[in-house]
Amino acid sequence: MALLVTEAIVLHAFDYLESSRIIRLLTREAGVQSVLARGAKKSRGRYGSALDLFAEGSAQLYVKPDRELNNLGTFEISRTRSELAEDIGRFTAASAIAELALRFAGEEASPALFDTVAGVLDEISVAAPERTIEAGLSGAWRIVSVLGFTPELSSCSLCHTPIRDAEDATFSHASGGVICLSCSRLFPGGRKIPAGARATIASWLNRAELPGLSDAEARSHQRLLREFLGQHLTGDRPLRAFAVWEHERWSAA
Ligand SMILES: [Zn+2]
Repeated sequence: MALLVTEAIVLHAFDYLESSRIIRLLTREAGVQSVLARGAKKSRGRYGSALDLFAEGSAQLYVKPDRELNNLGTFEISRTRSELAEDIGRFTAASAIAELALRFAGEEASPALFDTVAGVLDEISVAAPERTIEAGLSGAWRIVSVLGFTPELSSCSLCHTPIRDAEDATFSHASGGVICLSCSRLFPGGRKIPAGARATIASWLNRAELPGLSDAEARSHQRLLREFLGQHLTGDRPLRAFAVWEHERWSAA
């Protein structure tokens, strides 16, 4: 058994047997890890609030080769991110981000993914209630990019013809980005997006500040992202937290 000490973020947690909890962590050194936290349920004394959702800290993992569930030693918390629980929009956006990370990160070390997810959760935790969807969308596209699926936005992903900034274009999920008018005639089935929406995604990827989206725009962006994830990452398994994030705001309105 090897001891691994790594920075980790709590992305999912549930009770297990009498007194324990199973925690799914995104770690800097070993990707996603499921760990058994003994005594974490009954007293909370051993870990306190350290294992609350979205908390970040330094974790000791006792790792056995070929075991799906490792044992958690200590967890020294450095950030609680308790602000995420204070607003439903923040919470559902953060949950969608957690689901994205859990579903697509492997068990290999990925400091870039870890830092991106940590940064996105920080941004959502300070997002104004009416800007949580944009914080989630912006963060999700950056995570998609770190995972290697940066969408092509400035030229046709099939024939590489540059697409002018002012031009409406067709977003082809299968091609991994926008396609030009002639290619869209040859390969129908993409989704037309206005020039502004394309610029918005590019700004999110470059972390540029943006004016707020309208409700209709935010909704369209969530749908576009969901379709893109379905094409490139999720396959047939639906993203449950993403669905809650997408429907929560609009069903309450
Ligand atoms: Zn083309």
